[in-house]
Amino acid sequence: MSTGFRAKLKVALVTGGAGFLGSHLCERLLDEGCVVHCLDNLSTGRLKNIEHLQGHSRFVFHLQDVKELVDLRQVDEIYNLASPASPVDYQADPIGTLLTSVQGAVNMLELARRTGSKILQSSTSEVYGDPLEHPQRESYWGNVNPIGKRACYDEGKRCAETLFFDYSRMHGIRIKVVRIFNTYGPRMRPDDGRVVSNFITQALRGDPITVYGSGQQTRSFCFVDDLVDGLVRMMRTPDDLTGPVNLGNPAEFTVRELADLVIEQIGTAAIAHHPLPQDDPRQRRPDITRAQVLLGWEPRIPLIDGLRKTIAHFAAELELTAEKQIAAE
Ligand code: NAD
Ligand code: UDP
Repeated sequence: MSTGFRAKLKVALVTGGAGFLGSHLCERLLDEGCVVHCLDNLSTGRLKNIEHLQGHSRFVFHLQDVKELVDLRQVDEIYNLASPASPVDYQADPIGTLLTSVQGAVNMLELARRTGSKILQSSTSEVYGDPLEHPQRESYWGNVNPIGKRACYDEGKRCAETLFFDYSRMHGIRIKVVRIFNTYGPRMRPDDGRVVSNFITQALRGDPITVYGSGQQTRSFCFVDDLVDGLVRMMRTPDDLTGPVNLGNPAEFTVRELADLVIEQIGTAAIAHHPLPQDDPRQRRPDITRAQVLLGWEPRIPLIDGLRKTIAHFAAELELTAEKQIAAE
């Protein structure tokens, strides 16, 4: 028998929702039964990432800049992901990148204040800069060059963290800060310049793989599904758990090892060495003890399995692009 009572649906706002991580997060939140507002200015994201969600009755897309006023009356959870993320993207408009981090954070924190929503900031391992401690724990304050080419992103994200904690202390906003380490998977843009997308698309096209510097610098690669699970777990923790919490895969690889894995999977061999970009961190690996203890979270998908899924995605996307080109000729 119906009581006439309908449970109130949880309303989530995902800024940067048409991007790589954001689109997977929107999907996950819809699967959980939330109303999902996806806000994006499409500067580095793509409508095709969310086209399969557009007809959904609980999905609303807002073509908007995160720096502008967002007029939502009810929100329960804000996931603030809007920001270019790849070095090529964020250095293309450094001032815009910095302002997106800082003004975007203020704008979303004010929205959280007006609506009483919880708010999660997608910070980054870049707050540790070129780290002098290894692996990186959340207690490490980092080694960032404030005037280098990466500073627009690193300092923007550091300042956003400061704003989050000041809003929490001054206004009692319920904040969650996660520091995301290199994450990869389907829906990365083939031309985003990041190492995983570059290596896979180069190998698929039969081009040489561009290793910057000696290739001995290290990164730790987390598959997108694992990462999204960490974001949602963090949002659902008790209010006194603000973070920061590292989210990433602690398995560490040199860039050269990554190149070899991609070659092994796709079967091309040429490697072309290019100069190492300025301030490129030499070593990066998260200490994820906090995430393990506080969120019960750790990555489950090994690099080789994630790479296979990502290669299949890029192969399909490149084939589609080639077909479109032939049809247009
Ligand atoms: P992405 O570029 O695919 O997604 C970012 C999205 O934000 C895009 O859809 C873009 O159009 C949107 N955006 C950018 N500026 C905006 C603005 N001013 N207003 C509205 N929308 C805007 O990158 P991603 O990898 O999905 O990254 C998502 C978030 O996670 C970013 O905040 C990034 O800093 C953080 N992060 C990602 C990684 C990673 O390895 N993927 C690592 C650390 C942190
Ligand atoms: N890199 C590389 N070849 C490329 C792209 C990147 O060797 O075609 C290197 C880059 O110098 C860095 C690492 O791969 O050491 C990761 O780069 P990415 O741009 O993916 O992200 P970062 O971790 O530097 O933000």
